[in-house]
Amino acid sequence: MSISTILNKFDIKHADIIKKYQEEGKKIIGCSPIHLPVELVYAAGMAPMGIWGSYGEIARAKEYFPAFYCSIVQRIMEMVLDGTLDVLSGIMVSTQCDSLKALGQNIKRVYKEKNIPYIHVAMAQHRKIEPGVDFNEIQYRKVKAQLEEISGNEITDEKIEEAIKLYNKSKVLMQEFVELAAKHPDVITPSWRSIVLVNANYMDRAEYTEYLEELNAALREKEVVPWKGVKIVTTGIITNSHSLNEIFEENDMAIVEDEVAQESRQFRTLVDENTGNPIRALAKYLGDIEGCSLMYDPDKLRADMIIDKVKKSGADGVVYVQAKFCDPEEFDYPIFKKALEKEGIKLVMIETDQQMTNFEQARTSLQTFAEML
Ligand code: SF4
Repeated sequence: MSISTILNKFDIKHADIIKKYQEEGKKIIGCSPIHLPVELVYAAGMAPMGIWGSYGEIARAKEYFPAFYCSIVQRIMEMVLDGTLDVLSGIMVSTQCDSLKALGQNIKRVYKEKNIPYIHVAMAQHRKIEPGVDFNEIQYRKVKAQLEEISGNEITDEKIEEAIKLYNKSKVLMQEFVELAAKHPDVITPSWRSIVLVNANYMDRAEYTEYLEELNAALREKEVVPWKGVKIVTTGIITNSHSLNEIFEENDMAIVEDEVAQESRQFRTLVDENTGNPIRALAKYLGDIEGCSLMYDPDKLRADMIIDKVKKSGADGVVYVQAKFCDPEEFDYPIFKKALEKEGIKLVMIETDQQMTNFEQARTSLQTFAEML
């Protein structure tokens, strides 16, 4: 099978994915960012579906949030209010940033009227110490009980272990895909790279894993064509905008690595297997994540991790995609910039939001950056 035929399997409209779940009689649980225990949803026989990263108008959500609020959160709220998400049998919202905390409470209020269960996923920011892991385990047991009630299925430890293994397998394949994509930017363009990685949040994970095995096998076989453009590492919360990826392509920029919340932050850390207590393993996983702006990280390892990625991948520079009004990312930027400057690594920051239709400012910055590299 050709690489383009396999790639097309990942290019599915969200409406079609939902339709397929409905035809299979599967309940869908919306998962609002990030690092949520999606394995518990899968173990309950339901479909976890990411609900962050959509683009479009924000109108009614403005009644719930001030104008200077993160647009990722506002878009989720807009979809809650306009009925787009009424297909859900429940919604899980994490609480790692202040914007998400308010989002959860607003959804809870609206969904009470719609009779859609709201699943609050509290997470300890002191996630590495024993009491933090204990707290997260207790929270996940509450989440498990709610998911059992919604699905009508018991979530056994065996089922959770199976789900952990499936998700880990897909994460290892995604790590390999990122390496293969860096070798083959002539076919894995920024747009395709984004489609393949981001759709893991929506597609059935077993099916996704199967397709990714096929894609990686085909890419392993493909002859390497020397890349004449520039190589970049991207970082930020989301970079799935079609317009943004087109700008990368227009400027012959190949993404050879990323440190993006919706991409590699999702799969670079595995959950421990065969521990005898899979719920605790999921709680411990939160403590194992490094370099994420949403997680308490006094050592601020993110910059060092990216410097390492730049050196290993031979990238020419880094693009910091700042989600507008995202405090955790804004706090990281000055530390990050200082560390990259010290290493002599070129960096550009562009700002995006979920309502953006005009990318001219980003286009100009990226054109100039590409010429500098
Ligand atoms: S981390 Fe940033 S982008 Fe994500 S929900 Fe919070 S404010 Fe929005």
